[in-house]
Amino acid sequence: MAGQKIGEAIKAVLDVIGLGVKYTIKPERLTIYYPYEVPDYMGRVRGWIGLWTERCTSCMICARICPTNAIKMYMEKNGRRYPGIDYGRCIMCHYCIDACPTYALYPTDIRDFAFYRHEDMMYTPDMMRKPPQVPKLVPHVVKVVHEYSKGRVVKVRVGELGEHKPLPPAPSVPVVES
Ligand code: SF4
Ligand code: SF4
Repeated sequence: MAGQKIGEAIKAVLDVIGLGVKYTIKPERLTIYYPYEVPDYMGRVRGWIGLWTERCTSCMICARICPTNAIKMYMEKNGRRYPGIDYGRCIMCHYCIDACPTYALYPTDIRDFAFYRHEDMMYTPDMMRKPPQVPKLVPHVVKVVHEYSKGRVVKVRVGELGEHKPLPPAPSVPVVES
């Protein structure tokens, strides 16, 4: 009985070592060398959310509909409350944008923004008025391609990092005076 247990333990250790050797010889990493490479995001990946406060009626619908409770309403000097987003909670579902009755929230294609500290993830209304500056550190965009028929994963360089698209034009809805 004791011999059987020792045999199983040795087999488990050898299995782990074997797996380590296999991936050392033939790595199948999905990681990329960020920030020198960035992933080639799919077209439908949603990005940073902007705010036109002059359109916001402080109705709080965005905060109520947010499934992760990422939106907090901040009181500003004019006595009105405007939304701010905690990107530590936000899942980029953009429900808030869809639900906003005055188009005060808008989507962008800025998907590659990173934070050093958790407090930096808290975007106040003031920060949401101006899109974040994305540093031009990243020389190449790469796509991770699964070549299932060949049983491997390869990285393909698909181009230089371009400028972000300009912001979408404001839809013509009545502007709310604050
Ligand atoms: S995108 Fe989704 S998760 Fe993020 S703040 Fe808007 S509703 Fe909340
Ligand atoms: S951003 Fe839109 S949904 Fe949110 S409080 Fe302002 S008007 Fe209401």
